[in-house]
Amino acid sequence: MTMELVSFDPALCRQCRGLCCQGTPGLWADPERFASLFFPNGFPSPNDLPRQLNRHKLVLRPVLGTNIPAPRRTEEGCAFLTPTGCALPAERRPCQCLALVPSLDTLLTGEIDCRLPARLRSDRVAARWRRWWPLHANFNSTGQKP
Ligand code: SF4
Ligand code: SF4
Repeated sequence: MTMELVSFDPALCRQCRGLCCQGTPGLWADPERFASLFFPNGFPSPNDLPRQLNRHKLVLRPVLGTNIPAPRRTEEGCAFLTPTGCALPAERRPCQCLALVPSLDTLLTGEIDCRLPARLRSDRVAARWRRWWPLHANFNSTGQKP
């Protein structure tokens, strides 16, 4: 679902030095994509999920009553942010990171003016995960054990 929503402008983002990554990291919007990227051999059990996410430098972020996988956040921003950019290969990056449309105004003003397509907004992403969790055995709609 996200490959048509990739918006790259490497030159612009290089000059910006990842202002978006210094704030709140993006979310994986597509549960199936997330599961196949990080847990291709099966989604961890509820008890094991925190440990497995931690191993990948990920957390579950509560958004509108639903837990959504996201990169761990540090004082400097995203745990994957390095001096040379994102440590994750593009194909593993959160859907929101891939879809954010770079804007020259971000460079000019120093404030993030880059926009997400409507279907990648966090409320829409939360709705998608809310539908997905109950389909996954042993989870309820908040992503926690019942
Ligand atoms: S804030 Fe915008 S211009 Fe800067 S790195 Fe992120 S997407 Fe690129
Ligand atoms: S995963 Fe990569 S692109 Fe996304 S916020 Fe973190 S450093 Fe930035």
